[in-house]
Amino acid sequence: MQVHVHSPSLTSLRRLAKALQRGALVAIPTETVYGLAAHALDAKACRAIFRAKRRPANDPLIVHVLDLAQAEQLAEFNDTARRLARRFWPGPLTLVLPKKNLVPGVVTSGGPTVAIRAPSHPLARRLLRLAKIPLAAPSANLFGYISPTTAEHVREGLGRRIPHLLDGGACPVGVESTVLDVTNPGKARILRPGAVTADQLGRFLGRKVPTARSRHPQAQQLAPGMLERHYSPRTPLVLRRPAGKLPTGVAAVFLRPPGKKNLPHAFWLSRRGALKEVARNLYEVLRRADAGGYRQIWVEPLPAEGGGLAAAIHDRLKRAAARKRGR
Ligand code: AMP
Ligand code: MG
Repeated sequence: MQVHVHSPSLTSLRRLAKALQRGALVAIPTETVYGLAAHALDAKACRAIFRAKRRPANDPLIVHVLDLAQAEQLAEFNDTARRLARRFWPGPLTLVLPKKNLVPGVVTSGGPTVAIRAPSHPLARRLLRLAKIPLAAPSANLFGYISPTTAEHVREGLGRRIPHLLDGGACPVGVESTVLDVTNPGKARILRPGAVTADQLGRFLGRKVPTARSRHPQAQQLAPGMLERHYSPRTPLVLRRPAGKLPTGVAAVFLRPPGKKNLPHAFWLSRRGALKEVARNLYEVLRRADAGGYRQIWVEPLPAEGGGLAAAIHDRLKRAAARKRGR
């Protein structure tokens, strides 16, 4: 199979909406990363997502909807969840809620809850509007590898494994959505830090919103698929500030351009160290470093408590650096 790359004309959006209704897989841009979308109520189509990505069946999918009304057909909302959806949708906040029967077990890995969000990317929204179906869509990459933020990234990983790819340019946010468990509204907690920050959620809800620690055994039930190693380049990645002369075979990734011009084997994540820019460039830079044939990639760590997007970026870097595959 060779993927057909579509430009975002109305004709191709209509064609892709039909393909989705019929159960085909389509890689689509969202504001976070590219997603591999399928009809969320079609169990067969959703099984094809797991095959194409080589994703284990126990890692549930996020369902993408146009709005709260569509989401309420799929999940049991409480008032807190409704308020959060009204405030943060469309946008990068995924809500975990009790699922309704309509949602096939393959989507939730057999679990009683479903993860759901309304993306803000205009092309994702146009497709959702045309297709009139909810779309299950995990990141459009082979399982465990760096998430894709351009159509080219999707082609590199899945170009021979999926039929359709909608090219919408680079993803504006660049890291995955925040996953918030609101099954118990009084005890909302973050299962995966993302573009909507703990601070923003805390201020809105008027209480501190904790982040569940994925190493905790109980967290494995709450947040299936939250693997210790994930988002990883093939080259071993080390969280260490590169300083002095680099050992041979080491690529250095800085948060901002290093002082010395023309430093060989140096990459940087932003021009000025702004976190939004770091998030947007993160996966592209890691992929470039990974393609450079290095022995190791050293990445300058940033403080997890740096506020804003720092928690999400730190989470991804930590998982990219984790050694063993597994939990
Ligand atoms: P991805 O779409 O690849 O960014 O991954 C989606 C992630 O959302 C999964 O790996 C899970 O960690 C999380 N997730 C999806 N569904 C649920 C659920 N029902 N409960 C908790 N976490 C979920
Ligand atoms: Mg993923």
